[in-house]
Amino acid sequence: SGFRATVLTLYPEMFPGPLGLSLSGRALDRGDWSLDVANIRDAATDRHRSVDDTPSGGGPGMVMRADVVARAIDTVSPADDPRPRLYMSPRGRRLDQRLVRDLAAGPGVVILCGRFEGLDERVIEGRGLIEVSIGDYVLSGGELAAQVTLDAVVRLLPGVMGKIESGSEESFEAGLLEYPQYTRPQVWEGREIPEILTSGDHGRIRAWRRAEAERITRERRPDLWDAYRAGTDGTT
Ligand code: SAM
Repeated sequence: SGFRATVLTLYPEMFPGPLGLSLSGRALDRGDWSLDVANIRDAATDRHRSVDDTPSGGGPGMVMRADVVARAIDTVSPADDPRPRLYMSPRGRRLDQRLVRDLAAGPGVVILCGRFEGLDERVIEGRGLIEVSIGDYVLSGGELAAQVTLDAVVRLLPGVMGKIESGSEESFEAGLLEYPQYTRPQVWEGREIPEILTSGDHGRIRAWRRAEAERITRERRPDLWDAYRAGTDGTT
């Protein structure tokens, strides 16, 4: 599909990492997407190749410098780059399947991975970075968050998943969590596969799966359930 991902990081050796294996790795080998990794440190200009400095106003830790980060971005992503530029950040918009789908429908993505206490605010503004969080916890760096984001996006690219259905019936795609799955053996430790699933009656199977998906969503995720019932989940 020509989806182009570029990652900016202080730890380029962390890539492709798990993205080079399994579904995303095979897709990479096939050329369904491309991954370029740039070392932010290559944009440093001083003798010590420094990328960070102490926080203005005091406080612990270090902050990534606006000038160095901007130079790193400009090297891989010109001003007219149509790709969104993400900064993985616990302050960001929470990654969800809707954002994943929007990204997969676009030309690619530039992802900046933070380290230390994060970036100088001015480079977020000056380069139009979109802050994206993978959840309400703090990682030591943005690399794993970038990999989570790319894993979720790449599996939606055309040709990546074997069967179209395996993308359209799973958790979140219909605004519901997924129904329970089973496979052989028919009886395991005295537990049987629900009889309906081996009945061959596809209409009843579909109805059972829908009812189970609704029950599980209602029990586990009242927030998703309310949105689903209100028809305002925005996933369709
Ligand atoms: N001082 C920052 C704060 O409180 O928001 C945390 C910085 S964190 C130690 C270092 C880097 O890890 C961040 O710049 C960001 O790139 C990445 N990171 C940490 N938690 C993340 C999350 N939940 N989602 C996405 N990226 C995260």
